[in-house]
Amino acid sequence: MRTQMATEAGRTTAPSEDRALVGPNLLAVLDGVTAKPQTGCEHGVGWFADQLSAEILRFAHLEPAGALREAITQAAELHSGTCDLDHPDSPSVAVAMVQIKDDVLRYLVLGDATVVIDTKRELLVVSDTQTNRTAGAKAADVEHALTGEVPLSDVRRVAILSDGAARAVDLFNLFDWRQALELMAANGPDDLIRKMRAVEKEDAKAVEWPRKKISDDATVVYLDR
Ligand SMILES: [Zn+2]
Repeated sequence: MRTQMATEAGRTTAPSEDRALVGPNLLAVLDGVTAKPQTGCEHGVGWFADQLSAEILRFAHLEPAGALREAITQAAELHSGTCDLDHPDSPSVAVAMVQIKDDVLRYLVLGDATVVIDTKRELLVVSDTQTNRTAGAKAADVEHALTGEVPLSDVRRVAILSDGAARAVDLFNLFDWRQALELMAANGPDDLIRKMRAVEKEDAKAVEWPRKKISDDATVVYLDR
């Protein structure tokens, strides 16, 4: 199996708050939720995304929901002494994870990140763009995650995307998901981001495609067999 990764900040003036994880049996994209002026946290979203990423990898031997639950608990402990984790705008991230273990591919999506799984039977597109749910300070939030599993022998390829990259398909309609996977297979995931940035640049005032951020942090992890 081959894994490729592409990531690009939405702006040149601020670091990306997306993170891509490529572990031995676990792939994930985390997308930090843009911080409000008051968050109760002295560290910031980027710091939180880094801590949660490290903890997810540490618990990658657990199934995805268990790994994320443990990671949230551990990350919370790292700043519970200094920060108000009950603040409604405490740092949080959207998470999409794929774990390959025991001939099964397991996925988890919490928030508006997307997992696309091309199997021999169907194309699964998993995302939660409706509820504003994310992974923050409360491990219990993991119960709202969308999860499932597919026999590994059925899997042809997988893409994990932050919403800033998925908009190539679900906002700009540059291609459908199957075409997006074909493009990534042929040219790599960076080509998807490149083509999308060109469209964003052409519509720099967000007239043709109304959107809050002209360009958002965009990250793709792509796996094929
Ligand atoms: Zn903090």
